[in-house]
Amino acid sequence: MKKLKNFLKRHQTVAAILVAVLSSLVWAILQTLLNRVNFFDAILDLPVKLLSFVWSFLLLDIPVWAIIIGVGVITSGFCLYVRAFSTSEQEGLIKDYTSDSYKGQKYKWNWNKNQMHDLRPICNDCSGELIPDNLTGYSAWLLCPNCDKRYKMTDETALAHAETYFTNRANRKSEELKQAKS
Ligand SMILES: [Zn+2]
Repeated sequence: MKKLKNFLKRHQTVAAILVAVLSSLVWAILQTLLNRVNFFDAILDLPVKLLSFVWSFLLLDIPVWAIIIGVGVITSGFCLYVRAFSTSEQEGLIKDYTSDSYKGQKYKWNWNKNQMHDLRPICNDCSGELIPDNLTGYSAWLLCPNCDKRYKMTDETALAHAETYFTNRANRKSEELKQAKS
């Protein structure tokens, strides 16, 4: 088997002919089974179909505008694919960065595309989620139910500062990783 593989690698023309012959055989067998056509008729049918396709192409039976549109669609599809791939790769670089400390307080967040979501302080000791210590009225403290530690409630300004700090770090990390890759 290995010998055959090496032989085909060295003789690519032979390999191409083999593939063509094999696929013609498969095509003929399928035609025989599905359409109850005579096996040899089916074998002869394939080259005729292929030749007539090439012939119609050469005679420009296919209009030039169709070829231009076809090439355009394929090219723009390929460009979109490349762009989508590079964006998702960049997302992948920072998606693991979801927790860090700012001014002595641990925070946690999620990513939606490149946007930070649900930024919240977590327990500095056990990284557990915090809840307000009073759920029925105003609460100035956040409580860690795991270790009974209390934290001063973070206000909008502190959250905004933390968010900018972590976003900047994330951007820097992704730049570094991109440079390390290239
Ligand atoms: Zn805790």
